[in-house]
Amino acid sequence: MRTIQHWIGGRPAAAGSTRTATVWNPATGQARAEVLLAETADVDAAVATAREAFATWGQSSLSARTKVLFRFRELVEANADRIAEAITDEHGKVLSDARGEVQRGLEVVEFACGIPSLLKGDYSDQVSAGVDVFSFREPLGVVAGITPFNFPAMVPMWMFPVAIACGNTFVLKPSERDPSASLILAELWAQAGLPEGVFTVVQGDKTAVDALLDHPDVAAVSFVGSTPIARYIHERASATGKRVQALGGAKNHAVILPDADLDYAAEHLVAAAFGSAGERCMAISAAVAVGRESDALVEAVAEKARKVVVGSGRDHASEMGPVVTAAARDRIVGLIDAGERQGGELVVDGRGLVVPGYEDGFFVGPTLIDRVSTAMDVYTEEIFGPVLSVVRAEEVDEAIALINANPYGNGTAIFTSSGEAARRFQRGVHVGMIGINVPIPVPMAYYSFGGWKDSLFGDKHMHGPEGVSFYTRAKVVTSRWPQVSHPIGASFHFPTAH
Ligand code: NAD
Repeated sequence: MRTIQHWIGGRPAAAGSTRTATVWNPATGQARAEVLLAETADVDAAVATAREAFATWGQSSLSARTKVLFRFRELVEANADRIAEAITDEHGKVLSDARGEVQRGLEVVEFACGIPSLLKGDYSDQVSAGVDVFSFREPLGVVAGITPFNFPAMVPMWMFPVAIACGNTFVLKPSERDPSASLILAELWAQAGLPEGVFTVVQGDKTAVDALLDHPDVAAVSFVGSTPIARYIHERASATGKRVQALGGAKNHAVILPDADLDYAAEHLVAAAFGSAGERCMAISAAVAVGRESDALVEAVAEKARKVVVGSGRDHASEMGPVVTAAARDRIVGLIDAGERQGGELVVDGRGLVVPGYEDGFFVGPTLIDRVSTAMDVYTEEIFGPVLSVVRAEEVDEAIALINANPYGNGTAIFTSSGEAARRFQRGVHVGMIGINVPIPVPMAYYSFGGWKDSLFGDKHMHGPEGVSFYTRAKVVTSRWPQVSHPIGASFHFPTAH
C-alpha cells in the first residue's frame, strides 16, 4: 500500500516517522493509503529547515516573491483536476465540488499575487520640523497551519499563499484523513521555483500539532477545525507567546421569511444543507421557518431532498458523496436516532442508504427533521453531516434571537424579499458572515473569512486584509536628518511636535 510522506527541505521525506494512519476511500470503504504520523523530532527537523529558509525568503524582494506566486497560480490551475481527484478519493465529495474548492483556494493565491500593493506602508512628511514618519510591515518568521479534513486544499490555501507572500516560511499540518492534496501543492510550489524549506508539510496527529504549538521557533499558528480543538490550540499556542487565529465549528442558521420565493429558498437550502454531505463549516444545518408559509417550505424542501442523487464522488451524476469515515457515518446516524427519540419529526430519513456498487461506502442520505427544539441534540450538536433541522419561529426578531443565543457565530443567511427585514437581520445577528438570499456566504479572497463567538478564537480572520495583518507586524519609523544650517537642540521633556 502507498505511504504518504511529509514534505521537508523541498522533497518528500519519511524523516524518523514509524507510526501511520489509514487513509480511506469513503465511497468504496476501502483503505487507500497509509499516512506517516510525525514524531516531535520530525517536527523539529521540519521547523529547522523552515527557519533556515526564512533567513533568505524573509529578505527576498517583493518582485522575487510575486514571480513565484504567479507561476504557482498557473500550476495550480493546470493541475486543478488532479488535485480535485485526490480530494474526491480521500474526502468523498463530488468532483465538481472538489474542483470548486481548488478554485476558491486559487483566488487567495491571486489575491496574494497583489502583495506589493497590500504591503505598502504609510508616509507622513514633516510631522514636526524636519521630521518624517513612515511605517512598513515585516514577516513573522516560521508560521504553522493546522487544517481540517473538509477542505484539504482550500483551507490550507486560505493561509499559505498570504503567509508566504508576506515573506514567512510555512509549515502545514494537514488532516490525516485526506493528506494527498497537500503533497501535490508542495510539488507545485517546488515547480514554481519556491526555495526549499519555504513550504513544508508534516503529516500527523496530536503529537505533531503539540510539537508545533510548543516549538519556540514557530511564531504564529493558524488553525481551522472543530471548536474544542480550536479552543485548545488558542490556549496552548498563546501560552508560548505565539500569535494565534483558531477557527472553530459552526451551526449555521438560514431564516426563511414568508415573503421569500419559496421555491428558490427550498432549492438553495437543499444545496447548502446537503452539498458536500453537509461537511462544510458554512453548511446550513438549521432552517428557521418563519410564519405562515412554514408547512409549504418544509414540503418543498422534502421534495427536493428526496431527489438528491447520492453516489460516488467520481460519478459525474452524483450530487452528494459519502461522509468521510465510517465513524463519522455512525455518529451522524446516532444523532438522527436521537432527533427521532427526542420528538423531532423525521420528514426525510437518510439512514441505511445503500448505493449500488458501493455497498461498503460511508453513505448517509439527505435527512430532514421538522419541529426541532433548541433542547434537542440535533440542534445543540454540530452534526457535520447531511442533516437539516427545521425550527419554527413566529417572526424575524425571534429568529434573530435564536441565532444570537447559539454559541456559534460562523455563517447565517436570510431568504426574504423585504429589504427592511434583511437590513434588520444583517445588523442584528452576532455572526461573522451573512448571506442575503445567498445561503453560503463565503467571502471572496480580498475580504476576510471568519466567524464570531465559538467559531473563532483569536481576533484576526483569514486571508484578505486581516490575513496580511496576521502574518506581518508593523514598524513605525520616526526619522530626522539634521541639517547643519538649522541645528536642533535636544530637550529633556517628552518629544512633542513643533
Ligand atoms: P478536527 O478539529 O478534528 O481536526 C482539525 C485538525 O486538528 C486536524 O489537523 C487534526 O489532526 C488536528 N487535531 C485533531 N484532534 C486534535 C487534538 N486532540 N490535539 C491537537 N490537534 C488535533 O476537525 P475536522 O474533523 O478535521 O474538521 C471538521 C471541523 O472543522 C468542523 O467542526 C468544522 O466546522 C470545522 N471547520 C471550521 C471552519 C471555519 O472556517 N470555521 C472551516 C472548515 C472546517
